[in-house]
Amino acid sequence: MSTRPITVGEITAAPGQRARGFLTTDVGRGVTVRMPVVVINGKADGPVCVVTAGVHGAEYPGIEAAIRLSRTLNPAELRGAVIIVPVVSVPAFQRRAIYINPLDGINFNRVCPGNPMGTITEIMAHLLFTNVIAQADYYIDLHGGDMIEALVPFTLYYKSGNKEIDDASKALAEAYGIPIILGTSVLRGGSYGAAAAMGKPAILTEAGGQGILDEPSTQTHIRGVLNVLRKVGGLAGSPEAGPPPVHYNKFVWVAAEQECVYYPKVTVGQQVKEGDIIAQFTDLFGEKIGELRAPASGPVLFLVTSPAINKSDPLMAIGA
Ligand SMILES: [Zn+2]
Repeated sequence: MSTRPITVGEITAAPGQRARGFLTTDVGRGVTVRMPVVVINGKADGPVCVVTAGVHGAEYPGIEAAIRLSRTLNPAELRGAVIIVPVVSVPAFQRRAIYINPLDGINFNRVCPGNPMGTITEIMAHLLFTNVIAQADYYIDLHGGDMIEALVPFTLYYKSGNKEIDDASKALAEAYGIPIILGTSVLRGGSYGAAAAMGKPAILTEAGGQGILDEPSTQTHIRGVLNVLRKVGGLAGSPEAGPPPVHYNKFVWVAAEQECVYYPKVTVGQQVKEGDIIAQFTDLFGEKIGELRAPASGPVLFLVTSPAINKSDPLMAIGA
C-alpha cells in the first residue's frame, strides 16, 4: 500500500514523490559498499514492486533500463511504489568483472539471501534482501549475457513448490513479454529464487550480452517492466500482447571439465539434439583434447563466446 511513505535505509519517499540515495554497509577492512536506490512512490494504493539490475556488473542493457525507468516512472501515474536498484554490484560494474564481485570473487547470484556475518558478497546480498526485497510484493531482476556470453532473451522463474506463488511468478514471466520462459526447480542462490522461496513472486529476465549496451535489448527490459507493472496494477492498462510463450522446465547447464581453448559448434538460439557434438576443446597448441555432446535436446539459450576456458567455467545452457 502506498498512501504511506516508503523507506529504504536512509532514503524516504512520501506518497507522490521520488527519492534516491545509497544503501551503504561496512564490509570490513575499512571498505564501505554503496548500493544506489531509487524509490518512486505513487499517490494511490497498490503493490510494491522491486526492480534490480547489475547483480552482474557487465550486463548493460538491464542496468540501462533500470536507470531510465528510475528517472521516467511518474509517481503521479503509479499505484503503489517501485523500488529500483540500478546497479546492485557497483564494484563489479566499475571493474567490468565477469560473473563475480571483484572484492571477494563470489557470484552474487549464488549466495542469496545472503548472510550478515559472511563474505563481502553475502553481506551485500543480506543488505539487499533485508532493506529492499523484504518490502516487495513482486520482484524483477534484470540480467543479460555477461561480457563473454551471447544469449537469446528468456525469462526464468523458480518453482518453489508453493502453487500460488509459482503461478504468480509464471504470470509475471508471461506479462514481461519475452517469449521463452523457463520454470526451474533448482535453487542456486539466485535472488529471484531466494525471493520466491520467501513467498514473493519473482522473475529473472535476460536480454542482451557480450558487454554491448544495445537499444533493442534495453527496450525489451523497459517494456517488460512496464508490462509487469500493468499486470499487477501498478500502472493502468494491460500488458502488451506478444507472441505466445514457449515454456521449458529445465535449464541444463554445461560446464568445462578442464582448462582448454573452447570452440563452440553451435550458435545461440540453435536447436540441438541430445548427443550432438556441440563444442570441441584443444590445448594451447591446437591439439584436440576433447569434445562435448549435448546432454539434452532443445534450444541453446546462452553460449559462452570466449575461447579462454577454465575448469568448471560455464559453456552454455540448453532449455529442455
Ligand atoms: Zn547475470
